[in-house]
Amino acid sequence: MATQIIGADTARWRELDARHHVHPFSDQAALAEKGVRVITRAEGCWLWDSEGNRILDGMSGLWCVNVGYGRPELIEAASRQIATLPFYNTFFQCSTAPAIELAARLAAIAPSGLSRVFFANSGSEANDTVVKLVRYFWKLQGQPEKQTVIGRTYGYHGVTLAAASLSGLPNMHPQFDLPLAGFAHVPAPYWYAEGGDLTPEQYGQRAARALEDKILELGPETVGAFIGEPVQGAGGVIVPPAGYWAEIQRICRQYDVLLVADEVICGFGRTGRWFGSERFGIAPDVMTVAKGLSSGYLPIAAVLLGPRIGNALAAAGEEWAHGFTYSGHPVAAAVALENLRIIEAEGLHERAGGPLGDYFASGLASLADHPLVGEVRTCGLLGALELVEDKRTRRYFPPARKVGLTCREHCIQNGLVMRAVRDVMILAPPLIITEAEIDEMIAKARRALDLTRHDLGIA
Ligand code: PMP
Repeated sequence: MATQIIGADTARWRELDARHHVHPFSDQAALAEKGVRVITRAEGCWLWDSEGNRILDGMSGLWCVNVGYGRPELIEAASRQIATLPFYNTFFQCSTAPAIELAARLAAIAPSGLSRVFFANSGSEANDTVVKLVRYFWKLQGQPEKQTVIGRTYGYHGVTLAAASLSGLPNMHPQFDLPLAGFAHVPAPYWYAEGGDLTPEQYGQRAARALEDKILELGPETVGAFIGEPVQGAGGVIVPPAGYWAEIQRICRQYDVLLVADEVICGFGRTGRWFGSERFGIAPDVMTVAKGLSSGYLPIAAVLLGPRIGNALAAAGEEWAHGFTYSGHPVAAAVALENLRIIEAEGLHERAGGPLGDYFASGLASLADHPLVGEVRTCGLLGALELVEDKRTRRYFPPARKVGLTCREHCIQNGLVMRAVRDVMILAPPLIITEAEIDEMIAKARRALDLTRHDLGIA
C-alpha cells in the first residue's frame, strides 16, 4: 500500500488547489477559504485523506464505486488492455474487442429488449445523446414536430446544455438561461415534501397524471419523450410510491411518447436488481447508464436502445452525425466488462436486493426515532433521512439554518461521508459493504444527528 502523504503536502495542495483548480458545483471563494480535503487512497468502503483521517464512504464516491475501492481484478483488466491497445476509436468502420463484448454483455442483462448500445463517457453525454436521438427518431418517423422532452422537478440528468435542460433542480437553470426551448417539467412523486394530506399512493397518481396534463397542454403531437430516474437520486433519493411508474408508463404508451429511464445511479445493482427499471416494472424505450458501469474506475457511459429506436436507426439509410472520440474507449470498456463480471459473480445486485438491503433498511429505520428524522426511505442500497423541525406536520427547518450542511459536517468530522441535499441526508454505500460496516455507518450517522440537534439548540 502506498505510503500515507501527510503534513506539509496538505497545506501546499490546499493552496495550489485554491489558486488553480475550479471545482464542480462549488462556491469557489468559500471553498478556497475553507480548504479542500485531499483524498489520497481508498480500500473497500474506506477513504483516507492527506491528513491521515480514515473515512467510511457512505456515498460510493459519487454513487458509483459499486464494487468498492482497490479491486485487483479491475487494476489488472485496465493494465492488460492499456498494454494491448490503449486506444482506438469506433468511427470509420472500426471497432475494438472490449467495446463489442461490452455492448453484447449489456444487451444480455438489459430488460425489455434493449439490445443496441451507443457508448459515451459520462451520464451527461449519454442523456445529451438521448435528446438528439429523440429528435432524429421522430424525424425518421415523419413526425418532426414531436421534439419536446419532459423531465421532472428534482430530476438530475447532468450538466451539458441539454442534460441540464432535462434536469429539474432549481439551481441548475438561472445562471445559464436554461432550460433551452423544447424542454418541459412536471412534478416529482415527492410525497413527503409535497403530498399534503394525500396518501403516498394518491400523491403518486396525482404526480403521474401531471404528465398527462402536460402532454395534453403541449399537444401529444409535439411531445417526443419523457425521462425519469427510477428513483430520483441527486434530488433527494425520492422513492416513488407504488403504482406511480405503472401510470407513467400507461400515459407514455397512450400518447406515443418515448419512455427514457435514466439509470445512471439506479443501474448495476444499486436498487437490488441489475436495473431500477426491473425493480419498478418499467419497460423503457431507451436507458442511459454510467457510474456503476465501471464502478467509477474509468469514465464510461452508454445509451441502450430498444427495438423501436434501434430498428429506426438501423434502417435510416444514412450516417447519423453523432459520436465521441472516446465512444467505447477500449480500456474503460475492458474495466466495465470485468466490473460486470464481479457484480454477477459475487451476486452484488442480489445482495442489495436481499438480506444486505434488508439489513441496511432496518439500520436506517432504527434512526426514525431520532427527534430530527421525519422519514426514512430506502431502496436497495439507496437511503435517505428527512430532517425536519416538526415530524407531525412534516415541517422543514428554515433553509437559512443549514441543517443538512451542519449534519454533513458532523458526519465528516466523525469519519463518515453522508451527503446533504437540502435537509435530506443521503446514503449510497458500495454494494460490498458488510453488516459490521453498516452498523458503524448507522452509529456515526446517529452521532452526527445528535450533534446537529445540539447545534440547533434543541433540548
Ligand atoms: N443522471 C443521473 C441520474 C445522475 O445522477 C448523474 C450524475 N450524478 C448524471 C445523469 C450525470 O452524470 P455525469 O456527472 O457523469 O455527467
